[in-house]
Amino acid sequence: MIITDTALIVSRRPLGEKSFLIACLTKNNGMISGMAKNIGNSKKLSYYEIGNHVKINHFSNENKLGIISVELIKSYSLDIINNHKKLNIVILLCELIYITFKNAETSHTAALPQLIFFLESFQQTDIITLGDLANLTLVVRLLLQEMGINFQVNKCIVCDIKEPSQLIYLSPKSANAVSLNCGAPYKEKLFHLPLFLINNDRTNLTSQDVINGMKIIDFFMKKISIEYFNSESIAAWNALYSKIHKFLLDL
Ligand SMILES: [Zn+2]
Repeated sequence: MIITDTALIVSRRPLGEKSFLIACLTKNNGMISGMAKNIGNSKKLSYYEIGNHVKINHFSNENKLGIISVELIKSYSLDIINNHKKLNIVILLCELIYITFKNAETSHTAALPQLIFFLESFQQTDIITLGDLANLTLVVRLLLQEMGINFQVNKCIVCDIKEPSQLIYLSPKSANAVSLNCGAPYKEKLFHLPLFLINNDRTNLTSQDVINGMKIIDFFMKKISIEYFNSESIAAWNALYSKIHKFLLDL
Protein backbone atom coordinates (compact mmCIF):
# COMPACT_ATOMS: atom_id res chain seq x y z
CA MET A 1 0.00 0.00 0.00
CA ILE A 2 1.24 3.50 -0.80
CA ILE A 3 0.23 6.58 1.21
CA THR A 4 1.04 10.10 0.08
CA ASP A 5 0.23 12.95 2.47
CA THR A 6 1.57 16.10 4.08
CA ALA A 7 2.84 15.75 7.62
CA LEU A 8 4.92 17.04 10.47
CA ILE A 9 7.84 14.87 11.61
CA VAL A 10 7.39 14.27 15.34
CA SER A 11 9.96 11.56 16.06
CA ARG A 12 13.27 10.36 14.67
CA ARG A 13 14.94 7.38 16.33
CA PRO A 14 18.07 5.57 15.04
CA LEU A 15 17.64 2.12 13.48
CA GLY A 16 21.08 0.65 12.96
CA GLU A 17 23.92 2.78 11.60
CA LYS A 18 22.43 4.85 8.82
CA SER A 19 18.68 4.33 9.01
CA PHE A 20 16.04 5.91 11.20
CA LEU A 21 12.54 5.17 12.44
CA ILE A 22 10.51 8.24 11.50
CA ALA A 23 7.05 9.06 12.88
CA CYS A 24 4.85 11.74 11.32
CA LEU A 25 1.55 13.33 12.21
CA THR A 26 -0.18 13.42 8.82
CA LYS A 27 -2.99 15.59 7.56
CA ASN A 28 -5.31 12.77 6.53
CA ASN A 29 -3.90 9.49 7.84
CA GLY A 30 -3.18 9.98 11.53
CA MET A 31 0.22 8.96 12.85
CA ILE A 32 2.39 7.13 10.33
CA SER A 33 5.73 5.49 11.10
CA GLY A 34 8.29 4.02 8.77
CA MET A 35 11.95 3.36 8.19
CA ALA A 36 13.98 5.98 6.37
CA LYS A 37 16.77 3.90 4.83
CA ASN A 38 20.41 4.93 4.48
CA ILE A 39 20.00 8.62 5.17
CA GLY A 40 22.55 8.70 8.01
CA ASN A 41 25.49 10.45 6.36
CA SER A 42 23.73 12.14 3.49
CA LYS A 43 22.47 15.65 2.98
CA LYS A 44 18.99 14.16 3.09
CA LEU A 45 19.24 13.71 6.86
CA SER A 46 18.29 17.36 7.33
CA TYR A 47 14.94 16.71 5.59
CA TYR A 48 14.10 14.32 8.41
CA GLU A 49 14.48 16.70 11.36
CA ILE A 50 11.84 16.72 14.10
CA GLY A 51 9.52 19.66 13.44
CA ASN A 52 9.89 19.57 9.64
CA HIS A 53 6.79 20.08 7.52
CA VAL A 54 7.07 17.51 4.75
CA LYS A 55 5.35 15.61 2.00
CA ILE A 56 5.62 11.90 2.70
CA ASN A 57 5.56 8.75 0.61
CA HIS A 58 4.97 5.66 2.71
CA PHE A 59 5.16 2.14 1.26
CA SER A 60 4.07 -0.85 3.32
CA ASN A 61 3.38 -4.55 3.09
CA GLU A 62 1.27 -6.30 5.72
CA ASN A 63 3.16 -7.27 8.88
CA LYS A 64 6.14 -5.16 7.96
CA LEU A 65 7.38 -1.80 9.07
CA GLY A 66 6.83 0.55 6.16
CA ILE A 67 9.43 2.49 4.23
CA ILE A 68 9.13 6.26 4.37
CA SER A 69 10.66 8.99 2.26
CA VAL A 70 10.01 12.72 2.49
CA GLU A 71 10.21 15.91 0.46
CA LEU A 72 10.80 19.03 2.50
CA ILE A 73 8.10 21.72 2.53
CA LYS A 74 9.57 23.78 5.38
CA SER A 75 12.03 23.17 8.18
CA TYR A 76 10.86 24.90 11.35
CA SER A 77 13.61 23.39 13.46
CA LEU A 78 16.30 24.76 11.11
CA ASP A 79 14.75 28.22 11.31
CA ILE A 80 15.15 28.24 15.08
CA ILE A 81 18.19 25.99 15.41
CA ASN A 82 20.21 28.72 17.15
CA ASN A 83 17.41 29.52 19.54
CA HIS A 84 17.81 26.86 22.19
CA LYS A 85 14.69 27.71 24.16
CA LYS A 86 12.42 27.62 21.13
CA LEU A 87 14.00 24.50 19.68
CA ASN A 88 13.48 22.80 23.01
CA ILE A 89 9.77 23.65 23.05
CA VAL A 90 9.29 22.34 19.50
CA ILE A 91 11.11 19.08 20.29
CA LEU A 92 9.19 18.54 23.55
CA LEU A 93 5.86 19.30 21.86
CA CYS A 94 6.63 16.87 19.03
CA GLU A 95 7.63 14.20 21.57
CA LEU A 96 4.33 14.72 23.42
CA ILE A 97 2.41 14.29 20.17
CA TYR A 98 4.39 11.18 19.29
CA ILE A 99 3.98 9.52 22.70
CA THR A 100 0.31 10.42 22.93
CA PHE A 101 -0.75 9.33 19.47
CA LYS A 102 1.65 6.56 18.53
CA ASN A 103 -0.89 3.85 19.35
CA ALA A 104 -4.06 5.84 18.70
CA GLU A 105 -6.33 5.05 15.79
CA THR A 106 -7.87 8.45 15.17
CA SER A 107 -6.90 10.48 12.13
CA HIS A 108 -6.19 13.84 13.90
CA THR A 109 -7.26 15.95 10.97
CA ALA A 110 -7.57 19.18 12.94
CA ALA A 111 -4.24 18.95 14.75
CA LEU A 112 -1.86 19.43 11.84
CA PRO A 113 -3.11 22.83 10.59
CA GLN A 114 -3.15 24.18 14.17
CA LEU A 115 0.39 22.91 14.72
CA ILE A 116 1.64 24.50 11.49
CA PHE A 117 -0.04 27.77 12.51
CA PHE A 118 1.75 27.63 15.87
CA LEU A 119 5.15 26.90 14.26
CA GLU A 120 4.72 29.62 11.62
CA SER A 121 4.25 32.34 14.22
CA PHE A 122 6.73 30.76 16.66
CA GLN A 123 9.66 31.04 14.23
CA GLN A 124 8.98 34.70 13.42
CA THR A 125 10.60 36.27 16.50
CA ASP A 126 13.63 35.49 18.64
CA ILE A 127 11.81 35.89 21.92
CA ILE A 128 8.97 33.77 23.25
CA THR A 129 5.86 35.93 23.38
CA LEU A 130 2.60 35.62 25.31
CA GLY A 131 0.92 35.05 21.95
CA ASP A 132 3.23 32.07 21.32
CA LEU A 133 2.27 30.52 24.64
CA ALA A 134 -1.43 31.17 23.97
CA ASN A 135 -1.04 29.45 20.59
CA LEU A 136 0.72 26.55 22.28
CA THR A 137 -2.16 26.25 24.77
CA LEU A 138 -4.58 26.02 21.84
CA VAL A 139 -2.48 23.29 20.18
CA VAL A 140 -2.44 21.16 23.33
CA ARG A 141 -6.15 21.77 23.88
CA LEU A 142 -6.75 20.39 20.39
CA LEU A 143 -4.72 17.29 21.25
CA LEU A 144 -6.89 16.85 24.35
CA GLN A 145 -10.05 17.20 22.27
CA GLU A 146 -8.78 14.51 19.94
CA MET A 147 -8.18 12.28 22.96
CA GLY A 148 -11.83 12.77 23.94
CA ILE A 149 -12.04 15.79 26.26
CA ASN A 150 -15.08 17.69 25.02
CA PHE A 151 -14.44 21.35 25.86
CA GLN A 152 -17.65 23.43 25.61
CA VAL A 153 -16.69 27.04 26.14
CA ASN A 154 -19.21 29.01 24.08
CA LYS A 155 -22.03 29.02 26.63
CA CYS A 156 -22.66 28.47 30.32
CA ILE A 157 -23.56 24.83 31.00
CA VAL A 158 -26.11 25.94 33.66
CA CYS A 159 -27.97 28.93 32.16
CA ASP A 160 -26.91 28.90 28.46
CA ILE A 161 -25.68 32.51 28.55
CA LYS A 162 -23.30 33.11 25.63
CA GLU A 163 -21.71 36.49 26.39
CA PRO A 164 -17.93 35.74 26.47
CA SER A 165 -17.20 38.34 29.16
CA GLN A 166 -19.60 36.47 31.49
CA LEU A 167 -18.02 33.07 30.88
CA ILE A 168 -15.24 33.27 33.41
CA TYR A 169 -15.11 29.75 34.87
CA LEU A 170 -14.57 26.23 33.59
CA SER A 171 -15.76 23.11 35.37
CA PRO A 172 -13.06 20.47 36.02
CA LYS A 173 -15.77 17.79 35.94
CA SER A 174 -17.38 18.55 32.59
CA ALA A 175 -14.82 20.80 30.81
CA ASN A 176 -17.75 23.19 30.23
CA ALA A 177 -17.84 26.95 30.75
CA VAL A 178 -19.74 28.33 33.76
CA SER A 179 -20.89 31.95 34.00
CA LEU A 180 -19.94 34.48 36.66
CA ASN A 181 -23.33 34.20 38.36
CA CYS A 182 -23.79 30.45 38.13
CA GLY A 183 -20.23 29.73 39.22
CA ALA A 184 -20.12 32.12 42.17
CA PRO A 185 -21.14 29.57 44.87
CA TYR A 186 -18.48 27.05 43.68
CA LYS A 187 -15.80 29.41 42.48
CA GLU A 188 -13.09 27.81 44.64
CA LYS A 189 -13.56 24.54 42.76
CA LEU A 190 -13.64 26.03 39.25
CA PHE A 191 -10.87 27.03 36.86
CA HIS A 192 -10.57 30.59 35.58
CA LEU A 193 -11.39 30.49 31.87
CA PRO A 194 -9.34 33.04 29.88
CA LEU A 195 -10.97 34.84 26.96
CA PHE A 196 -8.47 33.56 24.40
CA LEU A 197 -9.65 29.98 25.08
CA ILE A 198 -13.24 31.00 24.31
CA ASN A 199 -12.93 32.95 21.08
CA ASN A 200 -9.19 33.39 20.46
CA ASP A 201 -9.49 37.05 21.52
CA ARG A 202 -5.98 38.33 22.34
CA THR A 203 -6.96 41.88 23.33
CA ASN A 204 -5.37 42.68 26.71
CA LEU A 205 -3.88 39.18 26.91
CA THR A 206 -1.94 38.87 30.19
CA SER A 207 0.51 36.33 31.52
CA GLN A 208 -2.15 35.42 34.10
CA ASP A 209 -4.51 34.51 31.21
CA VAL A 210 -1.91 32.14 29.81
CA ILE A 211 -1.18 30.71 33.28
CA ASN A 212 -4.93 30.11 33.75
CA GLY A 213 -5.18 28.45 30.33
CA MET A 214 -2.19 26.25 31.05
CA LYS A 215 -3.62 25.18 34.42
CA ILE A 216 -6.71 23.89 32.61
CA ILE A 217 -4.64 22.07 30.03
CA ASP A 218 -2.36 20.61 32.73
CA PHE A 219 -5.32 19.29 34.72
CA PHE A 220 -6.98 17.56 31.77
CA MET A 221 -3.72 16.27 30.33
CA LYS A 222 -2.95 14.52 33.63
CA LYS A 223 -6.53 13.31 33.99
CA ILE A 224 -6.67 11.76 30.54
CA SER A 225 -3.15 10.36 30.77
CA ILE A 226 -4.07 8.53 33.96
CA GLU A 227 -7.33 7.25 32.48
CA TYR A 228 -6.23 6.16 29.04
CA PHE A 229 -2.50 6.27 28.66
CA ASN A 230 0.61 5.18 30.44
CA SER A 231 3.08 7.18 32.48
CA GLU A 232 5.09 7.95 29.31
CA SER A 233 2.60 10.59 28.19
CA ILE A 234 2.51 12.21 31.63
CA ALA A 235 6.31 12.42 31.59
CA ALA A 236 6.29 13.96 28.10
CA TRP A 237 3.68 16.51 29.15
CA ASN A 238 5.52 17.36 32.39
CA ALA A 239 8.74 17.96 30.46
CA LEU A 240 6.99 20.44 28.18
CA TYR A 241 4.94 22.06 30.93
CA SER A 242 7.92 22.70 33.19
CA LYS A 243 9.68 24.53 30.31
CA ILE A 244 6.57 26.61 29.56
CA HIS A 245 6.22 27.40 33.24
CA LYS A 246 9.73 28.84 33.37
CA PHE A 247 8.94 31.17 30.46
CA LEU A 248 5.70 32.24 32.08
CA LEU A 249 7.51 33.23 35.24
CA ASP A 250 9.93 35.34 33.18
CA LEU A 251 7.22 37.23 31.30
ZN1 LIG B 1 -24.77 30.52 33.87
